[in-house]
Amino acid sequence: MFPAQTFKGKRVAVFGLARSGTALIEALRLGGAEVHAWDDSAPAVEKARAAGQPVSDLHALDFARLDAVILSPGVPLTHPEPHWTVKKARHAGVEVIGDTEVFQREAAGAGAKIVAITGTNGKSTTTALTGHMFKAAGRDVDIGGNIGTAVFLMRQPVSDRLYVLELSSFQIDLMPGLAPDAGILTNISPDHLDRHGSMDNYAAVKGRMFARQHAGQTALCGVDDPWCSAIADRIATGADLRRVSVLITLDDGISAPEGILRDKRGGQEVASIDLRDMAALRGAHNWQNACMAYGAGRALGLGLAEIERGMRSFPGLAHRMQEVGRVGELAFINDSKATNADAAEKALSSFDTIYWIAGGLAKAGGIESLRPLFSRVVRTYLIGQATEEFAATLGDRPFSRCGTLERAVAAAARDAAAEKRRGAVVLLSPACASFDQYPNFEVRGDAFVATVASLPGAQMTSQGGTDAAQP
Ligand code: ADP
Repeated sequence: MFPAQTFKGKRVAVFGLARSGTALIEALRLGGAEVHAWDDSAPAVEKARAAGQPVSDLHALDFARLDAVILSPGVPLTHPEPHWTVKKARHAGVEVIGDTEVFQREAAGAGAKIVAITGTNGKSTTTALTGHMFKAAGRDVDIGGNIGTAVFLMRQPVSDRLYVLELSSFQIDLMPGLAPDAGILTNISPDHLDRHGSMDNYAAVKGRMFARQHAGQTALCGVDDPWCSAIADRIATGADLRRVSVLITLDDGISAPEGILRDKRGGQEVASIDLRDMAALRGAHNWQNACMAYGAGRALGLGLAEIERGMRSFPGLAHRMQEVGRVGELAFINDSKATNADAAEKALSSFDTIYWIAGGLAKAGGIESLRPLFSRVVRTYLIGQATEEFAATLGDRPFSRCGTLERAVAAAARDAAAEKRRGAVVLLSPACASFDQYPNFEVRGDAFVATVASLPGAQMTSQGGTDAAQP
């Protein structure tokens, strides 16, 4: 916790009393601001009051006398309709921002540097990988934002300290002054339209990652989907635009269509890194994340060897296609975070010989969309409520009804050991929510790891990984 000096002597309303809100209130008070805190949840207000926080009913407060209204990122700014505090703030002509905006003003004031990361998918992996690379190279770096640590729970910004921040679109919406030293937009696909109204609006919010950058800063923008590609084409800020693709090789940009990262400028290759044997960066989606992290590393002065070393020692994020152990040559992969078919598709595409553990609480459409990948699966081990639905989709493909995860791991390990296929993996990528059998996907992943560890001859991988938060 550290003082937010940029609001010294100002009057602010803070709405949202969860963890990040509480840290922000403390920081603002330490910095000498007059804070009025509130929440729509009565228990949250009571708890804050009991903890001695400056609670005041914002319904009764005159917003015209405020310098800013600071919202928790969970509070709707536009859709389905603006929150009442937003309407009141607009009426009074007072700015509406988030804790991440306050933080970035502090960072700018102190001369600290920011790498900011957003996108529909890959935010947490890219953030963790980028932070890890800088740490491994001995840089002074903190990682936070949407990924775990609230911004005001990181260390105080000082000159040249680097912050690697994961930003949800909700947070970007509340950052009118966002201008990161390196900004990253991984990809855009339809998601969270409930909050952003339309795809155009959602893409426009993501595009704001680059809108206020200037010369000397770097814009890393994926170009493998039409929305990101259009955003890249519109960048005219003077920032160094680096396009990123894992579909094609770009003459000007960073690409890795075959798993070999190539950095080219004006058709000339300036650097390359072979990503194909990096255990925590399997699959084209992770190559995209690696290209982004590479670009940020380069932009902020890391050497090629430092970047490569960082990538190689990256432990991966827990529950995301994470190799957790081996029995002999057979690898066990925990992809418990894959709670729908889209996410499971990434894992199934990343391996050729799969003993697949799937099931739980099925989402609409089940595993129909994964049919083209069934040829990579030697046998499927079904668990949980989805068992009969998935069995029907699998049809003639080999599968076993296992009921529980423990029985599925044991059966898959036994079959794989008997068949001894080269490059085989036992993959937990359930394509389902966990709630029929577990409180959440983390507990399900932990149960998988514990079961693997109990197999005779299991050699466990040291577990890395931070857990991540919002979309
Ligand atoms: P986020 O923080 O954006 O939710 P994560 O890094 O936590 O993303 O990854 C979540 C899941 O999304 C992964 O398990 C994987 O299935 C998929 N994923 C990761 N990176 C990408 C990417 N660059 N493109 C598409 N999907 C990805």
